[in-house]
Amino acid sequence: MSSLQTQTVIDVHHWNESLFSFKTTRENSFRFENGHFVMIGLKLDGKPCLRAYSIASPNWSEELEFFSIKVADGKLTSQLQHLNPGDEVLVGTKPVGTLVMRDLRPGKRLFLFSSGTGLAPFMSIIRDLEVYERFEQVVLVHSVRQVSDLAYRDYIGAELANHEYLGEFISNQLVYLPVVTRESFDVQTRIPELISTGALTDTLGMEPLNTSEDRAMICGSMAMLDDTKAALEGCGFVGSPSQGEVGDFVIERAFVER
Ligand code: FAD
Repeated sequence: MSSLQTQTVIDVHHWNESLFSFKTTRENSFRFENGHFVMIGLKLDGKPCLRAYSIASPNWSEELEFFSIKVADGKLTSQLQHLNPGDEVLVGTKPVGTLVMRDLRPGKRLFLFSSGTGLAPFMSIIRDLEVYERFEQVVLVHSVRQVSDLAYRDYIGAELANHEYLGEFISNQLVYLPVVTRESFDVQTRIPELISTGALTDTLGMEPLNTSEDRAMICGSMAMLDDTKAALEGCGFVGSPSQGEVGDFVIERAFVER
């Protein structure tokens, strides 16, 4: 069986000059856990050009959704950013990853820490009913440089609360904290400092972080992963040591080892 499927683009949305999202058809046989990533790409000069992408859609959706950077001289994204509905995209058949809920110890609050396109896997997780069954509260923190980088802001902050099946859970249990580090904004402090100073929970009007009830997932650039991990460890949290072993927090290891 081929390790690549060809899917058709259904919809493309450009957030700003450096970020866009797109939806594709999905094969019935394509199975994944919310939080997984998969290799996707285009045929360039007759050969597949593939990159790792977190799946932004939840696994119950009939479509696949991806949230992408546009790198001007990036081999894949310099081309991918010109996708239109009807175009074909290559999608790997083996979604994988360590950013999965089952490697978290039971807890009451789940913090999802993301920067930039690191939001993508959490778009899948916040639309997973299981997360609201496992945790009383889910706090999504999305840190970006400019206000226009806050992709999905209205969707998360307003539209999702009206979702037919998830709306009730989302309005009662999901807390969304956008952070903008290089323009004037309500919260401008980087995620690691928000954690280590206690400003995170102060800002949200919540009880301070505590290792017995709080859990976290982290996705972002390598520097953000390292600093956020260190901030959580400084508060006493212990990460999942490897896939299949539970911890207080999980990170996307493939991204770290790149
Ligand atoms: P590349 O040659 O791959 O990258 C060129 C340069 O662009 C890199 O050196 C880096 O400095 C910068 N860059 C690359 N990706 C990003 C990014 N996402 N944000 C900011 N700067 C970046 N990218 C996504 O856009 N969305 C995702 O959901 C996503 N998920 C990933 C999951 C994993 C596990 C890994 C390892 C990577 C993921 N990436 C994601 C990055 C992605 O694989 C590619 O690097 C990206 O698509 C750019 O590809 P490129 O060929 O255009 O440029």
